[in-house]
Amino acid sequence: MSRIVYVNGRYVPYARAAVHVEDRGFQFADGIYEVCEVRGGHLVDEARHMARLTRSLGELQIAQPMRTAALVHVMRQVIRRNHVRNGLVYLQVTRGTAPREFYFPDASVTPTVVCLARSISPARVDTNAASGIAVKSMPDIRWQRCDIKTVMLLPACLAKEAARKDGAREAWFIDNDGLVTEGASSNAWIVDQSGAVITRPLGADNLPGVTRATLLDAIKEEGMQLIERPFALTEAYAAREAFITSATQTVMPVVRIDGRSVGDGKPGAIVQRLRLKFHQFAAISSG
Ligand code: PLP
Repeated sequence: MSRIVYVNGRYVPYARAAVHVEDRGFQFADGIYEVCEVRGGHLVDEARHMARLTRSLGELQIAQPMRTAALVHVMRQVIRRNHVRNGLVYLQVTRGTAPREFYFPDASVTPTVVCLARSISPARVDTNAASGIAVKSMPDIRWQRCDIKTVMLLPACLAKEAARKDGAREAWFIDNDGLVTEGASSNAWIVDQSGAVITRPLGADNLPGVTRATLLDAIKEEGMQLIERPFALTEAYAAREAFITSATQTVMPVVRIDGRSVGDGKPGAIVQRLRLKFHQFAAISSG
């Protein structure tokens, strides 16, 4: 079965999917993206993802390429045409193609839209979740608008590669005060010795994760203790539990940070409960 990719109005085979060499996404990382979980063939938390996409476009003054409903239609088509039951759908919008020039091109230049979907075995993610993952701390060398989901991901690539060399699946970015900002591609959480769930408040130094937002709903509904405040790496070392959230991993236990065991080195009770509960609180779109 050949993979199908959406590029600027056409559904094309993967091998022929291409954008122009002077696309501003390629030249300047001048674009934004979304990644949604696909579960049972449906989009998870579609409305929250599309709201964040609209916000990212607005913050960078990139024109909305088409109505949100039309973008969702494209995403659904790409999921269906690639027979993805469980996995992810990736949507990227760049400012478009124009001769390389720092200033924004004139309004006649239309945004580039690309959409891909990929299957991910839920069993594989569940296996990782059963054992938990390791993370490595790295200095946060990113820019000061990490609240925008841009394709400018080189610091995340460098951090994740360094983590991988140390046998860790994720990197946690640390700011100049020794506080954890977030993961390279996830939000970061700990559970303290009293059982309170702690995560950094939203700000310019972290992404408003959709999974984070849905999990906050779950935590509140479940009546669990929640504290939104920055936490230090040293606090994370001493935490009872730790975990990350992202659309593709949902709620993923962290059992080692910089080679030190978190708690007893096994996924904790609270993170396991939240992982099990997560999809009860997520919005699963029909259609
Ligand atoms: N933080 C960063 C830097 C990310 O790249 C991501 C996801 O890719 C997240 C947090 C988690 O966001 P979401 O839950 O919307 O996937």
